[in-house]
Amino acid sequence: MNFNLSLALAASLALTTTTLATTALAVEPPNPPAAKAFQIGTLQAWSLHDADFGILNDGKTFGADVGPVEVAKVLAAAAMPTDKIPVSIDALLIKTGDRLVLLDTGLGPFAANQLVASLKLAGFEPGQVTDILITHSHSDHVFGLTTQAKTLTFPNATVRMTSKEWDWMKSLAQNAAVTALIASKVKTFEPGAELAPGITAVALDGHTPGHSGFEVRSGTARLLDVGDLVHSSVVSLAKPEWAMGFDSDKVLGKATRRAELNALAKSGELVFAPHFPFPGVGHIVAQGDGFVWKPGVE
Ligand SMILES: [Zn+2]
Repeated sequence: MNFNLSLALAASLALTTTTLATTALAVEPPNPPAAKAFQIGTLQAWSLHDADFGILNDGKTFGADVGPVEVAKVLAAAAMPTDKIPVSIDALLIKTGDRLVLLDTGLGPFAANQLVASLKLAGFEPGQVTDILITHSHSDHVFGLTTQAKTLTFPNATVRMTSKEWDWMKSLAQNAAVTALIASKVKTFEPGAELAPGITAVALDGHTPGHSGFEVRSGTARLLDVGDLVHSSVVSLAKPEWAMGFDSDKVLGKATRRAELNALAKSGELVFAPHFPFPGVGHIVAQGDGFVWKPGVE
């Protein structure tokens, strides 16, 4: 479904789940589940679609330090509407050895658990997922851990996130229902840890207290799941130095974004960005004093 979560996501860091649900209900028309298969070296991977939404260009999120007029200029230059910024929610699935690893879980009940329908399109059932790697604990990445019936969506999976992120997630009242359900499944890690064959945690500081990217390696092939280092394939890349309202530490977020985008443009490695247009797989290319997105799985 197409979830117009502009308000919900803009404020979800502080919202109760009730408010999020109320806002999410306003949304349509349907936007079907989808799974896009691709290779990372010899590893099989899939991008799984969860939801779409638009973030209002109201100066609170994108360009929080420059205002909506400047953001509108960047959108207009890319021939996009200037009133809101389209953002997708997707997750990455990787088969590595006998492990089936899911990176983030979408909005769960707030997107009708559509990620599960996308997982089935890829040929798997939720019970087959062995490991879940969480970039960070915002609702659009962790609420998919639970079903509408308040049970575990992926009953056989270990849930991995940084120890800092788990501490922060538990500290927020809005997460209480989810943290209670997943607590016995959570196993924390530190930046740099190898979490599954070929998959390593990479610190990407600023977005949340324990935000992590994940690097996937197979032979000479490499992909970085950048989590919420970036949110818009247009604005976040053209102006990485603009403050992002969702970042817990906006100064650190800007610095990490600029440095990491530089590194990714230089290395030319494949990137998975959960909020870029589905399937969110492609390359970062330097252009002027910013960057542009070159979508494609090759
Ligand atoms: Zn997000």
